[in-house]
Amino acid sequence: MLDITKIEQGKLDMVHESASLLDIVRSITADLSGYSDKSNVSIVLDIPENVYIHVDVSRARQALQNLIDNAIKYSKNPGRVEISCQTNGNFVKVILKDDGIGIPDSEQPKIFSRFYRASNTADSNSGGSGLGLYIVRSIVSQLGGSIFFESKEGVGTTFNVTFPIYEIKLIKSEF
Ligand code: ATP
Ligand code: MG
Repeated sequence: MLDITKIEQGKLDMVHESASLLDIVRSITADLSGYSDKSNVSIVLDIPENVYIHVDVSRARQALQNLIDNAIKYSKNPGRVEISCQTNGNFVKVILKDDGIGIPDSEQPKIFSRFYRASNTADSNSGGSGLGLYIVRSIVSQLGGSIFFESKEGVGTTFNVTFPIYEIKLIKSEF
C-alpha cells in the first residue's frame, strides 16, 4: 500500500524505540551529501550527542529527510542550512534553518496541503510533487510531535519539529 494511502487511513505501522537524534540527522545528511555539495549548500549540525528521541526511527528519518531535502532544494547558491535542537520537558524541538528563497506570506497557509507548491519555486528550477510536507506533517503528528515554520521570502525559512524524548520511567515503590 502506498504511504499516502496508509497515512490517510491512519494505518502507518509505528514501532517506537529510543534513538540518537544526532545519529539520525548525520545519516540523512551523509545520504544527501552528493545533493548538498552539488547545490553548494553547507550543512551545519549543532545537536548534542546525548539527545535520544522516542520514535519510530524510519518514520522520524523520513520526516527529517523531507525537511532537509527541501532546505537544500529551496536554497540559494551558495546556501547554508543549520540544524540544531532545544529540549523542553518531554519534547525536543529540532530546528532546521535555511537562508534560501523563503515562502511568500500569502502562500504560507497552504504549504502543508497536498500537491501545493509555492509560486516562487518556479525560479529555483526544482521539480517536486508538493506531497512532501503533507506526509511530514502526518508522520510527525502520528509520532506525537508537532511542526510549525517561519519564513520570509528571499531571506529564508525555519522549520521547527518536536518529537517526544525518550525517558526512563522510574516506578516508585509503594512500600
Ligand atoms: P516533494 O513532494 O518532492 O517534496 P515539494 O518539495 O514541492 O515536492 P513539499 O515538500 O510538500 O513539496 O513543499 C511544498 C512547498 O513548500 C514547496 O513546493 C515550496 O514551495 C515550499 N517549501 C517547502 N520547504 C521550503 C523551504 N525550506 N524553503 C522555501 N520553500 C519551501
Ligand atoms: Mg519537498
